[in-house]
Amino acid sequence: MRIWFSLLSKQQRIWMAASLIIGILIVVSGILFEQKKEVRNVHVTVDMSIKEAAKKLGVTKKSLARELELPLRVPKKKSLKKLGVPQERLNQAAHHILSHVSGFLKYYIYLVLVLWGLVFLARLGKPDNAQSKKDRRVWYPRAVYLMVLFIALAAAGFALGKSPNPMEGIVKVFKSMVGLYPDPLNKVIAFAFFIVLAIIGNKLICGWACPFGALQELVYSIPLPKKIKHYKPPFWLSNSIRIIVFALTILLLFGITGSRKGLVLYHYINPFNLFDFDFNEHSILMTIIIVLIMSLFIYRPFCQFVCPFGLVSWIAESFSIARVQVDHNNCTKCGACISACPVDAAKGLVEKSKMPADCFSCARCLNICPDDAIHYKFVLQTKRGKKDEI
Ligand code: SF4
Ligand code: SF4
Repeated sequence: MRIWFSLLSKQQRIWMAASLIIGILIVVSGILFEQKKEVRNVHVTVDMSIKEAAKKLGVTKKSLARELELPLRVPKKKSLKKLGVPQERLNQAAHHILSHVSGFLKYYIYLVLVLWGLVFLARLGKPDNAQSKKDRRVWYPRAVYLMVLFIALAAAGFALGKSPNPMEGIVKVFKSMVGLYPDPLNKVIAFAFFIVLAIIGNKLICGWACPFGALQELVYSIPLPKKIKHYKPPFWLSNSIRIIVFALTILLLFGITGSRKGLVLYHYINPFNLFDFDFNEHSILMTIIIVLIMSLFIYRPFCQFVCPFGLVSWIAESFSIARVQVDHNNCTKCGACISACPVDAAKGLVEKSKMPADCFSCARCLNICPDDAIHYKFVLQTKRGKKDEI
């Protein structure tokens, strides 16, 4: 990393200083403008009706009913006691609902982490004074990436809790559609925010800012004993499973399978609960443990096999304004980037696949090519280059 830093040009150092200062200013303004997360000591009792308790908790009646595992059509004016809800269950539901009350500071942090990722990948990773292919090992030092991941995990995860997060962003839009939230527009805006961050640079929000993504990436970065190899599941398999889980969620949520309407599958496997230490459902703790063990051997298993935002941002990748690109005039198809890539993304790029796997902008492929044929660039830059060649 020291060599990388020493080879940065003056202009790159200015970029680095400016992005650090801007990042700090964004976070400071986030802290200043943060409407202090009200410490909501909301007290609800089973003598209240669903209507009264939901109003106090700031959610819809349906949402509270679902939280209490009651049918959505349950009488909303009857007291909870008469509906058979014990006080302990109500307290748990209230705790869970209030844990979703999110401040805005985390949005600022996501924005800063994504911008840092973009500046590093597009401008700083390859030092201007190390153009020679021989120096490529010092390009894109991993330590920078790992440092940002630790910040994502600490700040956007453990310090500020589970909400908001990209996965919740999409799930809440669908929950609003069955009336589980009183403010659907806010949910759509939050989702749009995450999608914009995914489009700015190939899934940068997942690769550089999502706290659970960061945790999986850090676990995967732990070196394995020589005899054990990482496993790269084929993309058709991981994506098919992710699509099936998503489709099943929609069927259950809308009650199409004949089940209780409003059932949210992700609620039972939401790994972001880790950041609130909220393991109300045993299945959540089990999911986290299984995912973290799998992460030792498989790259981001939750993202690849389950996360609905992973699926949607994979579709959004086609619109990314900056991304990993292969220069097919120089590429000799030696396969170095394909071996370095923890998923099938580089393979898809080299083979010009119409549906390449998710690229998490992890930069592993960017300093490996012996022909310097793989770069992180703005799409417009490439288009302009092609026009110049003509
Ligand atoms: S795909 Fe992974 S990194 Fe992206 S939002 Fe889901 S858990 Fe986070
Ligand atoms: S190694 Fe694979 S996932 Fe990482 S940036 Fe390169 S293509 Fe994307």
